Amino acid sequence: MLFKKEHILLQKAVRDFVKKELDTLPAEMDKTGVMPRELMDKLARYKFISTIVPKEYGGAGADYVSYAIVMEEISRKCCSTGTFVTAGSSLVALPIMNFGTDAQKEKYLKPLALGEQIGAFALTEPGAGSDAGAQQAEAVLDGDNYILNGRKCFITNAPICDFAIVIAMTDKSKGVRGTSAFIVESSWEGFSHGAHEDKMGIRGTETSDLVFQNVVVPKENLIGKEGMGFKIAMNTLEAGRIGVAAQALGVAQGALDEAIKYTKQRIQFGKPLSKFQNTQFTIADMETKVCAARLLVYDTAEKKDAHMKIEKEGSMAKYYAAEVANEVAYKALQLHGGYGYIKDYPIERMYRDARILSIYEGTSQVQQMVIAASVLR
Ligand SMILES: Cc1cc2nc3c(=O)[nH]c(=O)nc-3n(C[C@H](O)[C@H](O)[C@H](O)COP(=O)(O)OP(=O)(O)OC[C@H]3O[C@@H](n4cnc5c(N)ncnc54)[C@H](O)[C@@H]3O)c2cc1C
Repeated sequence: MLFKKEHILLQKAVRDFVKKELDTLPAEMDKTGVMPRELMDKLARYKFISTIVPKEYGGAGADYVSYAIVMEEISRKCCSTGTFVTAGSSLVALPIMNFGTDAQKEKYLKPLALGEQIGAFALTEPGAGSDAGAQQAEAVLDGDNYILNGRKCFITNAPICDFAIVIAMTDKSKGVRGTSAFIVESSWEGFSHGAHEDKMGIRGTETSDLVFQNVVVPKENLIGKEGMGFKIAMNTLEAGRIGVAAQALGVAQGALDEAIKYTKQRIQFGKPLSKFQNTQFTIADMETKVCAARLLVYDTAEKKDAHMKIEKEGSMAKYYAAEVANEVAYKALQLHGGYGYIKDYPIERMYRDARILSIYEGTSQVQQMVIAASVLR
């Protein structure tokens, strides 16, 4: 795949940003568990959190290939920052972009794209993970408002969000066709979040439960129509997969970068590790898989830009890139020997960060289900 001139320029701009702004921060955020607000503001100023949001709503108005470039280059250095970017720019922006009213776009999409507000996307529940249709949260119409009750778990940005896109049942008798999507502001009474989860990786992002106790949600905050909740969520996750797949590609490339650097300088038996054939074959294997993942990711992004269906392609890109990121991070750590196990080297954090990629936004097994369903239709 050959990038257009505008994509090459964007790639250079993101690389410059990463070099300047993400030097020591990934290690610091991993330790503190907090992403500095200044970093979020800078990501917004450069429009890296709003690549695919139209210009009229404060976004960059760019294509999905550009979105993948931003995600790959940022995640190559910092998977946490990648998660923050993808949560806002696709999971939260897409439902409003694709199904929201003009008033909803003005009120929520614009401040989100400009970095004035932080959003969260709340689909997962304790009893509804891979089986996302088994929703228990409920929204009951009462005059001009819905009364929302329920609990969501593992929600990225939950402790710091200004509003959340929440999927809830409006008609239990209809199953997934009885779900609806709402925009719910965190300042409203009855909206609360649980403790910040103590995670294995992507520790620079904040994740927690969201609890809704008789939250009064005005009718105008329903996205689309009643019953469209599951459709909106699946539409969002399908396009969002380009972001996570590109994030995984970036993590894989970042781990490979570290392995190349380390094996060229570490001397054992009188020569650099890179001179041993085992190292060379391992690096060749890693490079080949990263390149194959890159082809899948950008092919999916190009198809999306051409308005083609990407149901199977998005799942293949997410599945393959996430598994490659884990494998490459494992091998890169192995090539570091004991030093790879110590926090002085970034590969230890990258190895932990990579693990989430085959779990969130649909586990690898869920992607395999989508791919198989498409092939065996
Ligand atoms: C750090 C983090 C951030 C997250 N951010 C968000 C967010 O912002 N918003 C949000 O809504 N959710 C979020 N999630 C939730 C995430 O999407 C879910 O954890 C994920 O979809 C898996 O659901 P589960 O954890 O309930 O696992 P389960 O569904 O219980 O799965 C457990 C295991 O069983 C396998 N499995 C399940 N069903 C099948 C099947 N039919 N066939 C074969 N294997 C199967 C799975 O692949 C997995 O290996 C986040 C999670 C984490 C950890």
